[in-house]
Amino acid sequence: MGAMIMPENDTAATTSLIAASPFELRVDLGRDVPESQVRAALTSGEIGFLHSFTTGSGVDGPGVRVVAWTAGCQWRCLYCHNPDAWVMSNGMPVTIARAVEELSKYRSGLHIMSGGITMSGGEPLLQDRFVIKLLTAAQRMGIHTAIETNGNLGDRLSDEELDRVDLVLLGLKAWDSERHVRLTGMDPAPTRRLAQRIAARKRPIWVRFVLVPGLTDDYEDIARIAEFSAGLGIVERVDVLPFHQLGKFKWTSLNIRYKLADVEPPTPDAVERACSQFRSAGLKTV
Ligand code: SF4
Repeated sequence: MGAMIMPENDTAATTSLIAASPFELRVDLGRDVPESQVRAALTSGEIGFLHSFTTGSGVDGPGVRVVAWTAGCQWRCLYCHNPDAWVMSNGMPVTIARAVEELSKYRSGLHIMSGGITMSGGEPLLQDRFVIKLLTAAQRMGIHTAIETNGNLGDRLSDEELDRVDLVLLGLKAWDSERHVRLTGMDPAPTRRLAQRIAARKRPIWVRFVLVPGLTDDYEDIARIAEFSAGLGIVERVDVLPFHQLGKFKWTSLNIRYKLADVEPPTPDAVERACSQFRSAGLKTV
């Protein structure tokens, strides 16, 4: 990897690694990286493909956090607000050294604000070697580490690597398998397997559940997710995230058919009802 030449196209060369928010539309930043180099980067973790770094997040883990948004995801959630992060070639190629250097700039601020780094995406475990390298470097700097994941590729992490992640923000999207496939295109079993592995290791999870009217608001379905989450015994809190349309413009710009264009966000009552189901199972919601 030392001799790897990373072609940077004009857009990538003039795009800052730091974004104001993950809602910035970013495409083709890694399109000139040859397939062989992408494969080598995925194997070694020496290079990651990132949408961006954002700073100042108060919702992606404890404290105030830096979030590294990775590019690439195999799922196709109907409500995804970052469809530009589905394709790895939309991400900016970033060496692990540069990513660590960027993170180190925030080290003292993160300590003061009891924060840390969260790897999100896209799906960070699609770039599991890069993610583990960056989180290991973060831990060496005394920085709290988290990943936000759909859990599908959890088997890529060894138990010892899992222990290097201080917190997993795990997306539980639906219980019923057919509903889950309709919603995400993928089977839910690997996600639940990862949850159980984390529970067996007594590590913490924050569950993330996106509430979409008519799609994920089935009473029984939420009850099963709540029962499963409570049964793990290590879920510290559940974030019920009301569906929103902030990512709609990305679907339009990317010319991808967006089936939820006319879906309204859930009412405060609907959000409260879902939260109360989780609380009834003994879980904390925020
Ligand atoms: S798992 Fe996340 S990034 Fe992937 S499609 Fe679903 S919402 Fe989007």
